[in-house]
Amino acid sequence: MTMLNKSATKKIIAEATARGELGNLVYYVDMQLPRDLRPTPDAATMPATDPPGQLPVVSLAPDPEAAYHYAHLLQALIESANKNRGIVFSIELTTLDILHNLGYVWYTWGDMPHEVDVMCPTCGAINRGLPGTVHCCTEKLPAYAGTYSGQWWGGL
Ligand SMILES: [Zn+2]
Repeated sequence: MTMLNKSATKKIIAEATARGELGNLVYYVDMQLPRDLRPTPDAATMPATDPPGQLPVVSLAPDPEAAYHYAHLLQALIESANKNRGIVFSIELTTLDILHNLGYVWYTWGDMPHEVDVMCPTCGAINRGLPGTVHCCTEKLPAYAGTYSGQWWGGL
């Protein structure tokens, strides 16, 4: 996803507010990865998921400034769990439409995830579990395994 400078961010927020679409804007934590942590050589940046495959987001509605502060707390938590790995973290702005179109599984940070039907990628069995996990042929999908089949939860 594209990184924005401060004035571009301000403009997008002002326009979304004027259209009554602030709830479609979310902050997420992005990572600039050192070469040895990139899943593919061209993947220099990627959203920070936690748990793996699930992207925590902070809605800008109803208060974009409070949301930015809250997103900083999320960034600090993710940074503290990834000390000395050479990752540079930043807060970025996107829309729920973009996340949906790119196939990201996202959730509102602070809410607890709940179980859904998860298909095992190996045998096709349907298991009950947290999104991104399977419970028969594999313990857990690796981090950054890619996208999952749609949005499992959220909805602002
Ligand atoms: Zn299986």
